Amino acid sequence: MRKNIVAGNWKMNTTLQEGVKLAKEVNEELKKVTPKCEVVICVPFTHLASVNGVIDSNNLGLGAENCADHKSGAYTGEISAAMVASTGATHVILGHSERRQYYGENSEILKEKVNLALANGLTPIFCIGEVLEQRENGSYLEVVKAQIEEALFGLSPEDFGKLILAYEPVWAIGTGKTATDDQAEEMHAFIRGVIADKYGKEVADNTSILYGGSCKPTNAAALFAKPNVDGGLIGGASLDAESFMGIVNAF
Ligand code: PEP
Repeated sequence: MRKNIVAGNWKMNTTLQEGVKLAKEVNEELKKVTPKCEVVICVPFTHLASVNGVIDSNNLGLGAENCADHKSGAYTGEISAAMVASTGATHVILGHSERRQYYGENSEILKEKVNLALANGLTPIFCIGEVLEQRENGSYLEVVKAQIEEALFGLSPEDFGKLILAYEPVWAIGTGKTATDDQAEEMHAFIRGVIADKYGKEVADNTSILYGGSCKPTNAAALFAKPNVDGGLIGGASLDAESFMGIVNAF
């Protein structure tokens, strides 16, 4: 059966020293509890190797926030999936709405990134979600379906089974405006149905689908109680060990 997962997305926050300190705090807090979910922190590229050196990988997974859509070569400033994997990271966030919106990442680019991540043994945390206008004009289900079909439906069932999906309504990210638990459940159940239609019920039932968008200790339990919500991708609240642990302990 699918796993429950809480993953932090630190975005472009913390210096190396601040990041190592935060990772150590989360690592220590996790030792005090028996979490009912897997826990992952996705951190800036510059922090990966150092953070890997201070966390216990049995308790806390480590991921990057992006990787390149090329294998290697003359792509100044880019970081490849192989480079990410060589730091000890095991996960990578792909398709985050901020990458789609500010860096022009489309399904063609994301397809390459997913393939390269999988080829290098990384678990993609693949983000999908509609903008406010699409929520309001009622096209949100179709929008998310198209994002999944375009970037992911070229994968074999075996490779699709390696993914984690994160539904992140763009209007809820960093806005303090959370989708209601019923809105999240409607979308998560829909996504599972889309996967089942393509890959069958077993693959769909085994796919973890996380919710992201202003998830906090105060609303996490209600969201995670929904049958198709398998955890959270956490932005702002992952920058403080106490609030991140409040979400982890909501399971
Ligand atoms: C995110 O960016 O993945 C996210 C969910 O951010 P926040 O929790 O800050 O809304």
